[in-house]
Amino acid sequence: MTKERTFSIIKPDATRRNLTGKINAKFEEKGLRVVAQKRLHMTQEMAERFYAVHKERPFYKDLVKFMTSGPVVVQVLEGNDAVALNRKVMGATNPANAEPGTIRKEFAESIEANSVHGSDSPENAKNEIAFFFSETEIVG
Ligand code: ATP
Ligand code: MG
Repeated sequence: MTKERTFSIIKPDATRRNLTGKINAKFEEKGLRVVAQKRLHMTQEMAERFYAVHKERPFYKDLVKFMTSGPVVVQVLEGNDAVALNRKVMGATNPANAEPGTIRKEFAESIEANSVHGSDSPENAKNEIAFFFSETEIVG
């Protein structure tokens, strides 16, 4: 087990329902530490760049619209195998398929408004962290 960092977003459906603390509690209960965090409103340009990998997917335009529909909380989470652990704590993309106890099972509204984003590989985590944070903003 190696200490690792991953990138997380608490999405607009969750900030709208005031769930930031409840979601952070899930991370902390499972051994993930919030080592950087800020609340911001993504611009269309930021959301388009962040989700550029999904540009050709049919849901891309809607996803950009959703991610800019309200504030988000961007975070760096640290822990043992943080990337994989966070994906487990989040649950499946579609809340209908998510395991009991996961964030998406408990809080997600739909496959799109699914409350959280988490990096899917250590390499993407590094890039996504750098997209939003400078090194001095991350305090482990
Ligand atoms: P994330 O990248 O947000 O952590 P993920 O890796 O589980 O989620 P991706 O396949 O990367 O899922 O999709 C990115 C996001 O696009 C999803 O979290 C969801 O908000 C949205 N999305 C994915 N599939 C669909 C779909 N079929 N219809 C609508 N929105 C979708
Ligand atoms: Mg993804």
